[in-house]
Amino acid sequence: MPLLTIFNTEMEVFEKVDFLQEKLAKIDSNQNLGLVPTMGALHQGHLSLIERAKKDNEFVLATIFVNPTQFDKADDLINYPKDLDRDLSLLEKAGCNYVFVPSVQEVYGENVVAEDYDFGPMDKVMEGRYRSGHFDGVATIVHRLFEIAKPNRAYFGEKDYQQLAIIKAMVRQRSMSVEIVPCPILRETDGLAMSSRNVRLDDRQRQATPFIYQNLEAAKVLFEAGQDLDSIRKAVQLGFDQNPLLELEYFEIADQDQLLPQKTWDGQSKIRAFIAVFAGQVRLIDNIALN
Ligand code: AMP
Repeated sequence: MPLLTIFNTEMEVFEKVDFLQEKLAKIDSNQNLGLVPTMGALHQGHLSLIERAKKDNEFVLATIFVNPTQFDKADDLINYPKDLDRDLSLLEKAGCNYVFVPSVQEVYGENVVAEDYDFGPMDKVMEGRYRSGHFDGVATIVHRLFEIAKPNRAYFGEKDYQQLAIIKAMVRQRSMSVEIVPCPILRETDGLAMSSRNVRLDDRQRQATPFIYQNLEAAKVLFEAGQDLDSIRKAVQLGFDQNPLLELEYFEIADQDQLLPQKTWDGQSKIRAFIAVFAGQVRLIDNIALN
């Protein structure tokens, strides 16, 4: 069990469920544990979750696990960026108390498959439509981490807004007592949502990517000016048709709770715009509240 003692704080790193649970069992019942699940290749967006978790809880546990069952494409899993030493040093600087870095076998045993969940229409649109089985994989790993660590609260970024909604639904379905805390999207200064995948962009692609958030902001401006959802969708599609470096996979406007795509706005419901774009082989997602 390695123990890092850089930067004057002590952060403990665990690879085994048993050792982690032994440690967590020592937390007083009147103290809280906040969990921040990640796939590593950490950036400021992840660290903002740690910061929030530290404010709310006496102890913070981060997990680093590239979950194979949520990847629908083998290439994407193989190419997922990894830098464990850097991640651990960032977590320690951020004041994280514990890190769980399990192997695939430690999490899944010999049976590396996702459970079958039923989230109704919510996991069949947008990410669920284009990444087959993705949310079964997400729900499976998050449920497993909740079972292992039994956190009081768990922190998720609105960057993956649909994932957040799915996790809330999973917690309701399984009657788990953990509180799910949504955290705002952190962006680069030019608007690109921070993502582990951004390091895979070449210079030209990186320069092209602020266009993604510009379109989300433009969609919001059009919505506020009273444009109907269909013309907003068409305007975004047209913009991407003329951009040689970015390929639009989907642009969808959906209500913020059920994530049901909306043809028209009912004048009341809270709605968001969601986007997925390819820059070469790199797939990027983002979203924005329209009202
Ligand atoms: P990942 O490592 O991509 O699985 O992300 C781990 C957590 O960090 C998820 O809850 C993400 O939604 C969150 N996250 C990723 N990027 C950002 C960002 N730019 N701003 C806020 N949260 C983020």
